[in-house]
Amino acid sequence: MKVVLSHLTKIFPARGRGSAGTVAASNLNFEIPDGELIALLGPSGCGKSTTLNLISGLQKPTEGKIFFGDDDVTDLPPENRGVGLVFQNYALYPHLTVMDNIIFPLGNLRGKERMSKPEMQKKALEIAKLVQIDGLMDRRPSELSGGQQQRVAIARALVKMPRVLLLDEPLSNLDARLRLQTREEIKRIQRETGITTVFVTHDQDEAMSISDRIIVMKEGVIQQIGKPQEVYDSPANLFVANFLGTPPINVFSASVSGEKLHIGGSAVLDVPNAPDGEVWAAIRPEGFIPDENGPLSCRLGELEVMGRDVSVVSFSDYSVNEKIRSIISSESKIDLASATVKFSLKPKKVFLFKKDTEERILFDIG
Ligand code: ATP
Repeated sequence: MKVVLSHLTKIFPARGRGSAGTVAASNLNFEIPDGELIALLGPSGCGKSTTLNLISGLQKPTEGKIFFGDDDVTDLPPENRGVGLVFQNYALYPHLTVMDNIIFPLGNLRGKERMSKPEMQKKALEIAKLVQIDGLMDRRPSELSGGQQQRVAIARALVKMPRVLLLDEPLSNLDARLRLQTREEIKRIQRETGITTVFVTHDQDEAMSISDRIIVMKEGVIQQIGKPQEVYDSPANLFVANFLGTPPINVFSASVSGEKLHIGGSAVLDVPNAPDGEVWAAIRPEGFIPDENGPLSCRLGELEVMGRDVSVVSFSDYSVNEKIRSIISSESKIDLASATVKFSLKPKKVFLFKKDTEERILFDIG
């Protein structure tokens, strides 16, 4: 089911006199193609949950419209939209078994859709198999792990075969390993069912790994929409560049003159067709190549081992980040006795942004 948001705005009214209302979502326009999994990504308070609640019908927009396929669902209550909802807290009924929790939504079906108990149980078992909890049907929620409880919540959201599945930070209560495992599971389940899915998260790693496309939000406004790799490789502005990537991107106060990027006194990169002026230069950690003749000179800190990667920590007076982190290949030699480390830069890993608007400035890459 295609989902379309058209000029969607949500303003929460002010509480006290004199205080302004909160614009939680501002003129959102996007289309989710049938069967896609999209992640709404952004920091706390950026309007992700509000956007999800507008799609589900739990909240009414101040302006704009929502379509499921060709149906205008803007004025429909949640129960008539055909959405499945999963929240961070699994909200299962503690006194019911897994089976009864899953079949619960089927009990509300009326008219032609009404099902007998055995039909409901058959359907619940099918979905339980899909989310791999079919061996736990007689247990109560308190007898399950967090990950298992979240699977029950997902099964309950899926059992009516919703037109759209909406997941609000569904992995937040799980520990790191289970988060990884469960996000893979969600991806598999989404592929198998083909249900159009919106996944809310503030975790860029999660968004990058699970989604077909990412929508990055800040203060109620969409910053960029694209495939995860596209957004990472070509951020539209400094906010997006900063928000995606671990370790974070390294931002320098820099300038362009004569089609060369200058950091401090040194010309560190050719930037053909970039206009002269002050810029933010943001360099991905993998964009630094240790090079004894390299033009960017930094004060050497230490080597940090981060899982498989080795990162060189260094410092510069022109760096906005306290530490510069550069991920280097294991073959690179770094002389730890030296006070400085020199780098050359990979042009594709360097992004320039305007100092005032923080929008991207493009340059030609040879
Ligand atoms: P988080 O990751 O912390 O859940 P979020 O990105 O989901 O954040 P929202 O919950 O959508 O953000 O909130 C967006 C903005 O709207 C925030 O400034 C929040 O304070 C405000 N807001 C949300 N719900 C209400 C409400 N019911 N009444 C007034 N303001 C609200």
